[in-house]
Amino acid sequence: MGFPAVQHRGFNLPQRPDNAQTLLRCAVPIPVRGYLDYLPIEDSDRFPAIGSRLLIPLGSRQVVGIVSEILGSTAVDPTKLKRASAYLDEAALISPNVLELLRWTADYYQHPPGETLILGLSPRERRGEPSASTQEDGFSLTLRGEGLSDTALSRAPRQQALIAQLRSGPKTRSELRSAGFKPENFRALVSRALIEPVALDANNAWISKTPLSANSEQSSAIAAITTSLGIFGCYLLEGVTGSGKTEVYLQAIAAALARQEQTLVIIPEIGLTPQLVQRFKERFDAPIVTLHSGLGNAERDRNWQAARTGQAAIIIGTRSAVFAPLLTLGLIIVDEEHDISLNQQDGLRYSARDVAVKRAQLSDCPIVLGSATPSLESMANASNGRYRSHQLTQRAAGANPPTKRLVDIRGLALRAGLSPQLEAKMAEVLSRDEQVLLFLNRRGFAPTLLCHDCGWTAECQNCDARQTLHKKPPRVQCHHCGQKNPLPKRCPNCNGHRLVASGLGTEQTEQALRNDFPEVAVHRVDSDSMSGRDAMAKFAETVEAASACIMLGTQLLAKGHHFPKVTCVGVLDADSLLMSPDFRGEERLAQLLTQVGGRAGRAKRAGEVLIQTRHPEHPVMQAVLEQPWSVLSAQLLYSRQAQRLPPHGALAALRCDSATPDSGLEFLLTLMTAYQGSTTDPSIRLVGPLSAPMARRAGLYRSHIVIAGGQRSRVHASVKNLVALASEQRPPKGLRWFVDIDPSEPL
Ligand code: ADP
Ligand code: ZN
Ligand code: ZN
Repeated sequence: MGFPAVQHRGFNLPQRPDNAQTLLRCAVPIPVRGYLDYLPIEDSDRFPAIGSRLLIPLGSRQVVGIVSEILGSTAVDPTKLKRASAYLDEAALISPNVLELLRWTADYYQHPPGETLILGLSPRERRGEPSASTQEDGFSLTLRGEGLSDTALSRAPRQQALIAQLRSGPKTRSELRSAGFKPENFRALVSRALIEPVALDANNAWISKTPLSANSEQSSAIAAITTSLGIFGCYLLEGVTGSGKTEVYLQAIAAALARQEQTLVIIPEIGLTPQLVQRFKERFDAPIVTLHSGLGNAERDRNWQAARTGQAAIIIGTRSAVFAPLLTLGLIIVDEEHDISLNQQDGLRYSARDVAVKRAQLSDCPIVLGSATPSLESMANASNGRYRSHQLTQRAAGANPPTKRLVDIRGLALRAGLSPQLEAKMAEVLSRDEQVLLFLNRRGFAPTLLCHDCGWTAECQNCDARQTLHKKPPRVQCHHCGQKNPLPKRCPNCNGHRLVASGLGTEQTEQALRNDFPEVAVHRVDSDSMSGRDAMAKFAETVEAASACIMLGTQLLAKGHHFPKVTCVGVLDADSLLMSPDFRGEERLAQLLTQVGGRAGRAKRAGEVLIQTRHPEHPVMQAVLEQPWSVLSAQLLYSRQAQRLPPHGALAALRCDSATPDSGLEFLLTLMTAYQGSTTDPSIRLVGPLSAPMARRAGLYRSHIVIAGGQRSRVHASVKNLVALASEQRPPKGLRWFVDIDPSEPL
């Protein structure tokens, strides 16, 4: 590894005792639970900026570290410490504000600080490379291009239009792309020496276009948020689907832009919301960048840097964008704040929503949490006054709420999961040239492949789970670890040939729909059919332009979309979530049914929602029909309280992945015994060690201890004790342990 050491300007430290040794306290991206101290580089009286990177020796390697603190100590023996090898930055890459956020995150989630602080850097910066340039590439006319007559390219109209655009001056590639020009247009003209690539500063004007005229509920939310710009406040925007939450975001952002302040928008999954990004672009004539894993590294680095330099006005990103550098952060928005995709489920396990609230607090700015079905945590925070609640109870644009009914499917003959009632309703809607949206939360053809003769089922070799049968292309595949096998021709157990599919997946229902409704287009929407980067956006465009059609999909289809022509929504298998081992199962079911239902009748025409169930009398099923979320969530909260489960009190887990079934449980048992010997906090309940609901996943055995208590701070103190004890132990080979605070995975 060769890193360029920059000529460092740095600064001198304030007063310190003469005999004190200066220490650079560094976060190093390795799983140690602390910071490492280094001496400054040789022959230098300069020090690196806090929040900048340096290159430091670690064993026989050179690694990138982040300066977290500089201190003077008289108590260390300098011969025991290593020197930093080089300073990589002249100024901080991580601002004091974000550094504090990251330190808080490492402490709150009890995660190694080095592995946490690194999240404040772009992928390229983590590798020790220089930050990206914010200059964008673009094109200008060559002399030859300038001299071209306006009609010279009339046989290539796109190229002619591109030349015409550039006559007013050079344009960035992204401006030209959003005006509809394609890479082949650029290539054609460059090869004819009519245009040439140039580096440009991106457009820096921040202009908001005319907003919609807000209704009174929207106005009061907008007024509350915008008068709080410059002050921390958390606003819970609870608005029924289609009530115009996005319009509230847009107008709040306009107010932040008018103060020359940036807005950070966090959304669960970017691929699912191409329409949202599009609406932002239509409203603002200002640089908008996205940050998510679907971007190539170069683009991600550039957007990261544009956020840092203050060039980007609006930063829309998925959960890790919560740590993005922002020069002038003025407003944070978390859309679909209840969505569990906002939770990181491996490595540092954090809730982007909760970290965002902390960030707003550290940045003295307001934060808006929006959802039609806010999490019970946020509902509780609103009712105890920590968050200020604003409700949008009416659909904007004059649409009526959908009517909902349950279809009791007990004893009915279903065709690939479709009841006669649902099929009749679909036929009616389609004949009016309206659209149908069907929800089935299982991809593939069938969840189980079994042998009719001996009862064998296709199981994953790495997980305690069945393999799903897929027909396009044919295979059996595990949805937990991804492992695929070819379709067996005969039963591996009894050599019988009567292998049958059992249960229902989207591929199977798609087949039946094509058969029953041959004259309309059927779109299957799941992660198999929507794998490309722009697949979701293309699908949304197709549907927007189409008249009658059927969309059938998994939760990809349940979220945030706005399909004005959908007037019938069918939920094929509402019961699957009732069986969930998770204490949040009912909350998730109610959220899902409300969200899916919210896709119906969002424009002029009324919508209808049919929910198929074998448990029509279940209280959640009943409540979803009649109660608004405020009432339904209050009922769910009440039962959480009775069960002493979050948001009542706090939960944490110490989780363990191990190579053998027993080693994890034994490790945790030793830990619990040590803990009980050292501490006695009667307010804390320790439960376990337990095997996870799916005990083996991707070849690892998973187990945990649950730490529960009425007070968050006490739970936290106990977790810290456990972590200290665990750090003293030498874990057996192949065992990894980690902390999960406010766990969202079933326990
Ligand atoms: P949500 O984000 O709450 O689901 P949207 O912001 O997508 O709702 O709004 C639903 C529809 O209502 C959109 O077509 C939007 O343009 C329209 N809309 C929102 N606010 C207003 C308003 N004040 N006047 C007219 N139409 C509005
Ligand atoms: Zn068999
Ligand atoms: Zn598996």
